[in-house]
Amino acid sequence: MPLLKNAHILIIDDDPVGIQMLNHVLWRAGEVAFATSGEAGLQALGQRAFDLVLLDYEMPGLDGISVCRLIKNQHPELPVIFVTVRNDPEAEVLALSSGASDFISRPYSDAVVMARVNTQLRLRLYAERIRSQVMIDPLTGLANRRAMEEALLREYARTRRQGTPLSVMMVDVDHFKRFNDYYGHLEGDNVLAHVAEALRQCARRPGDVVARFGGEEFCVVLADAPNAPACSVAEAMLQRVRNLQLPHAGSTTQPYVTVSAGVATLHPPANAQAYEPNTSSSNHELLARALDLVRNADTALYHAKVDGRDRVVSYADLPPDSTMADFNPTPLRAA
Ligand code: GH3
Ligand code: MG
Ligand code: MG
Repeated sequence: MPLLKNAHILIIDDDPVGIQMLNHVLWRAGEVAFATSGEAGLQALGQRAFDLVLLDYEMPGLDGISVCRLIKNQHPELPVIFVTVRNDPEAEVLALSSGASDFISRPYSDAVVMARVNTQLRLRLYAERIRSQVMIDPLTGLANRRAMEEALLREYARTRRQGTPLSVMMVDVDHFKRFNDYYGHLEGDNVLAHVAEALRQCARRPGDVVARFGGEEFCVVLADAPNAPACSVAEAMLQRVRNLQLPHAGSTTQPYVTVSAGVATLHPPANAQAYEPNTSSSNHELLARALDLVRNADTALYHAKVDGRDRVVSYADLPPDSTMADFNPTPLRAA
């Protein structure tokens, strides 16, 4: 089996000769970087992404086991293979129990190193494929709810760090139940795929995520977007869906498929530290707070529906005591 190409491999070994020998075997697999201490290795891992680490066992300063534990703590998905003069079962057991994926004793056969490296790279590739499938909605090809929550968390954390605005939009197909009743569920699925593509076309900046939230509802995360530009994106989305002119005889809004949208924006004050002084919040807590923005967008969407559908409503434009009839969101520091 050929060695996988284009991998980014990091060798951590205090002995330059050991590094050279491994490099001689691995250069064909992709880009090989090296570090001559555990500390330097950890620093390199903080600076860029790698696919595999080959790690020495005995090193001055941080030893291989400590380095391995730290790597697995910060990058749990990153495979680590020990390559060492140690060949005793105690060392091997300790290496594997500290999170290593494999253990190769020196002197080694080049072919065995290649085969074992290849195995780890292949497993990583499979894991990445599965991970991306777990994040995608099969009907529309959009990010699914899980991927949306990840993106929202990432952007919310960025907003806290950098004090940039963050907008979230909820988009819902109008009278979709009637569409299904009139044209059938499969035609309904087809509409969802077309609407998804129209929304995707309108939010293409890096960091933007268009997701299927569930059913006929979509959620759009607009990174670094103040309220007015976010509302413009929402208007563009509605227009693009109108332009599709998908017939909808059951709609009392228009004779074609339309969507409604609610927009909510978080405008942190200039001093982001004062805005979120507690920087040690867990991801769970952060996500709970970020989801308040989704709730606000949902409240705005509810008003877009009540006001007649086929329109955009911004949470910022709602009266302060606006709530949904059956739902009382916590209005946060959202505009
Ligand atoms: P509104 O304008 O107020 O949004 O009305 P609506 O009919 O769109 O909303 P409602 O929540 O009453 O109905 C949503 C419908 O969406 C009901 C459900 O059958 C349909 N739906 C949800 N998921 C799917 C799906 O994956 N495919 C299809 N074809 N229909 C779906
Ligand atoms: Mg609907
Ligand atoms: Mg709905």
